Amino acid sequence: MGDNMKFVRYKHGNEQPRFGWIYQDRVGPVEGEPFGEYRRLEVDLPLEDVQLLAPILPGKIICVGRNYIEHAREHDAPVPEWPMLFMKPPSSVIGPNDLIHLPPQSEQVEHEVELAVVMGKDARWVQPDDALKYVFGYTLGNDVTARDLQRRDGQWTRSKGFDTFCPLGPWIETDLDPADVLLSCRVNGDMRQMSSTREMVFTVQQLVAFISSIMTLNPGDVIMTGTPAGVGPLEEGDTVECSGEGIGTLSNRIAHR
Ligand code: MG
Repeated sequence: MGDNMKFVRYKHGNEQPRFGWIYQDRVGPVEGEPFGEYRRLEVDLPLEDVQLLAPILPGKIICVGRNYIEHAREHDAPVPEWPMLFMKPPSSVIGPNDLIHLPPQSEQVEHEVELAVVMGKDARWVQPDDALKYVFGYTLGNDVTARDLQRRDGQWTRSKGFDTFCPLGPWIETDLDPADVLLSCRVNGDMRQMSSTREMVFTVQQLVAFISSIMTLNPGDVIMTGTPAGVGPLEEGDTVECSGEGIGTLSNRIAHR
């Protein structure tokens, strides 16, 4: 594998969605199994001629709450002593440029930019020092949250589980050091969130190890590693852009259902 391999899923015209890779501003197919043996074919299409899809359709999406101290503070919530886990359903996943739908049950839907870890191998009871060997790569996630429902409910399944509440993309970067990735979130061009993953309470290695002591992580599973401070509301017509240095930008517009 070369440096800075960008793995995508994409659709060209009426063809079936397929896995591919990006080189400069072109995209080409990947033949075989992304998590096993595969071969990169020629980058034969300009990027603007294809529709990028969510780069992975995860079996499960495990999320970490309050993994940045400043974000816990902005909600007057304690920083957990161990990773606080919850899950989003796979049905909440959308891809780059897809619409985030505002559900009628909520009056306060908010963005949360997060580093999303894509697993590459079965992981069970792995040690932190070995954890990154089980990771396939990294993409951006937006842990969209109906904040009013999150406050009202005892737990978070409803507030974080609506259809379209888990944008992922734009691609999976396979060569990245997750220890210091600058994350940012802009709404209509205005900076709302900016922080580095070095501010995380629990590192990616610690999270993979901790989660793998509870449930087996499988190839394609996604870990959403928590959001920094600065979360805020999304309104109809807004464009939300989640960026990660060394990865790219995931952009989505907001619409009523
Ligand atoms: Mg979150």
